[in-house]
Amino acid sequence: MTEAGKDLEIREYPLPEVEPGCILVRITCCTICGSDLHTWTGRRKSPVPIILGHEIVGTIVELGRGVTMDSGNRPLKAGDRITWTIMDNCGKCYFCREKGLMMKCARLKKYGHDSCANPPHFVGGLAEYCYITPGTCVIRVPDELSDEEVAPANCALATVVAGWDAVEVKAFENVLIQGAGALGIYAAALASHYGCRRIIVADVMRHRLEFTGKFGATDVIDSKGLDDDAVIGAVRELTGGVGADVVMELAGFPPLLPLGLKCLRTGGRLVEIGNAFAGAMFTCDASDIVFKCLTVKGIHNYDTVHLQKAIDFLQMARKRFPFGEIVGERVTLDRVNEGLRIAESGKTIRVAVKP
Ligand SMILES: [Zn+2]
Ligand SMILES: [Zn+2]
Repeated sequence: MTEAGKDLEIREYPLPEVEPGCILVRITCCTICGSDLHTWTGRRKSPVPIILGHEIVGTIVELGRGVTMDSGNRPLKAGDRITWTIMDNCGKCYFCREKGLMMKCARLKKYGHDSCANPPHFVGGLAEYCYITPGTCVIRVPDELSDEEVAPANCALATVVAGWDAVEVKAFENVLIQGAGALGIYAAALASHYGCRRIIVADVMRHRLEFTGKFGATDVIDSKGLDDDAVIGAVRELTGGVGADVVMELAGFPPLLPLGLKCLRTGGRLVEIGNAFAGAMFTCDASDIVFKCLTVKGIHNYDTVHLQKAIDFLQMARKRFPFGEIVGERVTLDRVNEGLRIAESGKTIRVAVKP
């Protein structure tokens, strides 16, 4: 991408020499995430030129000296299929070491978010190769999982798992999921797998709501044309009159946050994930938080542990939920602009780009 709002162009760069601790990967699949669309359409500022794409799976071409294992101590060799964290973090700065916030590392690098102008160039997923640097956590992909099942895990599912952990969702709880995109689908599947009672998904797109039924949603609220009181009333009715134990905001529409607070029961928890762009303003009655003793948490990206949990969850739950169907379209790299337009239309949850 050389400029926001314009078609991507194909550029050739020389392959880097693989340095110690690094890995050269041949990409087999990259899915287009909502944040790629934010960058492409200019809603989110990013440096250019940039290779978009961070939900990536690929096979190892060459391992740099010293790389013998993945993050889970599984041996690695050329030809193995891997995925990796969205970020490379230093492990030594204040946030990495003192505060356990590796995604907020002072020297953070993010695949698909940084300029590709300088070597090693291959720092994004919409490409034939990716160059993985030493601060990245790499996970060998279990054979039974397809590329399409794994790629969106490395952003959407891992982020939902981070949000899930942040508000400590428990069995028998009632969950309201705002947004029936990839994040909402994974949240429903987690809630179902871990024994939540009411799994309520709200969205304005009917076809997306229907799809969540395959992933464990027990109830859906088509909020198109509904005012807030109608949504709050529907959630109360589904939760014995008290409201949801947990609300997960996954749609990225700012007014959903104050609405989510009103849908919570007293003592409930809300995790805000969707509004990952600056200027996401909303108006809220702060007394909702005070009088109902609410907890509100923000989650941006995830920690290594969440990517491993995401892959583990896919392995555990793949027979129950059709994760592969989240990818509704496939395009080759030379048709990437068509892929971006399909993704932007919202017709399908994920578009896979395969070199
Ligand atoms: Zn993403
Ligand atoms: Zn750091």
